[in-house]
Amino acid sequence: MASEISTIPAASDGAIVSDTVSVLIPLALPKPYDYKVPVGMAVRAGDYVVVPLGSQELIGVVWGAGSGEVGHNRLKAIVEVIDAPPMPEVLRRLVDWVAGYTVSPAGSVLRLAIRAPGALEPPRLRTAYRLGDVRPQRMTPARTRAIEVAGDGFARTVRELAEEAGVSDSVVRGLVDAGTFLPVDIPTEAPFPDPNPDAQGVVLSAEQAEAAARLRAHVDAQHFVAVLLDGVTGSGKTEVYFEAVAAALTQGKQVLILLPEIALTSQFLERFEKRFGCRPAEWHSDLATRERRRVWRGVAEGRVPVVVGARSALFLPFPDLGLIVVDEEHDAAFKQEDGVAYHARDMAVVRASLGKFPIVLSSATPSLETVVNAEQGRYEAVRLDARHGVAVLPEVTAIDMRSNPPERGRWLSPVLVTEIAKALAAGEQSMLFLNRRGYAPLTLCRTCGHRIECPQCSAWLVEHRFRRELACHHCGYSAPVPKACPSCGAEDALVACGPGVERIAEEVAELFPEARVAVVSSDNLRGPSAHEAVFAGIEAREVDIIIGTQIVAKGHHFPWLTLVGVVDADLGLENGDLRAGERTFQLLQQVAGRAGRAERPGRVFLQSWMPEHGVMRALVSGKRDEFLAREAAARERVALPPYGRLVGVVVSAPDAGLAQRVAREMARLVPRADDVSVLGPAPAPLALLRGRTRLRFLVKAGRSVNVQAFIHAWLDDMKIPNAVRVSVDIDPYSFM
Ligand SMILES: [Zn+2]
Ligand SMILES: [Zn+2]
Repeated sequence: MASEISTIPAASDGAIVSDTVSVLIPLALPKPYDYKVPVGMAVRAGDYVVVPLGSQELIGVVWGAGSGEVGHNRLKAIVEVIDAPPMPEVLRRLVDWVAGYTVSPAGSVLRLAIRAPGALEPPRLRTAYRLGDVRPQRMTPARTRAIEVAGDGFARTVRELAEEAGVSDSVVRGLVDAGTFLPVDIPTEAPFPDPNPDAQGVVLSAEQAEAAARLRAHVDAQHFVAVLLDGVTGSGKTEVYFEAVAAALTQGKQVLILLPEIALTSQFLERFEKRFGCRPAEWHSDLATRERRRVWRGVAEGRVPVVVGARSALFLPFPDLGLIVVDEEHDAAFKQEDGVAYHARDMAVVRASLGKFPIVLSSATPSLETVVNAEQGRYEAVRLDARHGVAVLPEVTAIDMRSNPPERGRWLSPVLVTEIAKALAAGEQSMLFLNRRGYAPLTLCRTCGHRIECPQCSAWLVEHRFRRELACHHCGYSAPVPKACPSCGAEDALVACGPGVERIAEEVAELFPEARVAVVSSDNLRGPSAHEAVFAGIEAREVDIIIGTQIVAKGHHFPWLTLVGVVDADLGLENGDLRAGERTFQLLQQVAGRAGRAERPGRVFLQSWMPEHGVMRALVSGKRDEFLAREAAARERVALPPYGRLVGVVVSAPDAGLAQRVAREMARLVPRADDVSVLGPAPAPLALLRGRTRLRFLVKAGRSVNVQAFIHAWLDDMKIPNAVRVSVDIDPYSFM
């Protein structure tokens, strides 16, 4: 029936005139396999199809014409074509691109794009009833009311009819039996509201209006450009990029907004609703299965105009995407570490370039990578320098902990304690920031010096006093706090070392017993509604002192907050990785930005044992650009990203000897290549994780080296035993 198929125009998503097609299957398979197209079946590139694989039947995607590697008579046939819009060509090319870039099997990347159980099944219908021409022989007042309600011609369920008419369900059912109400099938799923691009926006300042006009012009031109929207906290970046969103909606295009922490976006959704009159669709791991299916299907059918989502939203099947916004583009949460190790921000730039539309990268503390891309002209930079309205930037002071140490057994310097007391007296809110969950990061035996570690990881167990347990933050292992030391058996000899947020809360309760305190960390807030509740309480001034981990750093606007104390500003600098300084600066700058966003000026105090450190000096002086320039120069000297390339390769196995043997063999087989050096194998900083021994290689290469080709040359033909896992991370962010 090839002639019938060929009548479909051969556009980008056109029919394939062939009796063999290649189908990519969402399993860890490197390439698509050929399948026979049965006579009479029409197949387009991108179609979702059911195919046999071994003894199973699986859903795959038609990737293109067959390769012809296997003879037609030996091929298995496609079982059926699923009734759904085909996967757009841009998304298929993105899947291939990401697979190539991350050195991952294409099938594993495809899995990211069809991770919505049930979305490919036909949409479910429910039965509703509309008024027909037949009237019942016997009329009652209740029947009359029900018929009147249905008189407007809309279909309703039995329950809806009964409720609106104020009658019982049985009255409605009686009318169904009498043939007065006729059944119709309607979709079970609620439709998506249309955001109104012309709804009343906020009044933009001259600076904001100019930035918005530049973004709008790019959207209107529908060409690829990456724009860095760079502005201090409170400068109105969101309002500015909303204008670009409005421009895309006016053109009938779909829009994707990526946020790093989707569970914390209630305030963002409200702002969106205020500007556009309705909420956008959401996409993140907390969505119920049903809602995932509805959103995925709605996106695929072009019925969803705007999606706000976490990094995985990048792989949604938008047929007509016209703009991507990456908010907080510097945030490490955009980097996926497990499975396919991809950076959603960077891959979003790829999707925009494949789809030929603009992408906006927004941040108050942009990553060095993006800043360098802007300086070198690959990205366009749009800057907002003023805080919107009357708010001014907070004043930042470093507290030298060497000359102002806390009392023994305490963690807050007298300087900070005095400031908190002042804020309390003035009826203003304070926030104490410590990026450490739990009560104490280490439990130590006073008698023998034993440190309690996770049995499956080389990491200390963290005491969670509220839950009365010790927990591993790497694998989730937990156990009750033991009475006696597990090593020497001494009773009551275990002591908590160092502070977590729970311990700071204890200290605050002793210092300010009258203050109302909220501890905000992922341990005591499960799910978005818990977050919403606590943040609403803070906004309603039901809290005097907020004690929080990085959850409080991001995106929230606390109008009554005037004082921020960073309990341990040096914390992020301890783990010596290449971005430690940059990331500490970004995080603390964001925390500082929480203070003084309304009329009251904010003050920020950084407790540091090394206030002369470049990061502290930059935070105090507010000279971000100088700091970034110094960071850039330091990295350029040693050819580290973005001036050179890195690849992390981790070898792990349940058996330490096996992991070491394989790593040694890999070291022996490192290919020779110009401008590439391979460091290792060395025990990874997390040398034991979930019971697996881990060894690390670090590949360091020049900017122009094709590191993917190097990895293929090194690893493709290597015989790796089944128990051993070799994971490759291009442009790693974690060095654990
Ligand atoms: Zn002991
Ligand atoms: Zn563990």
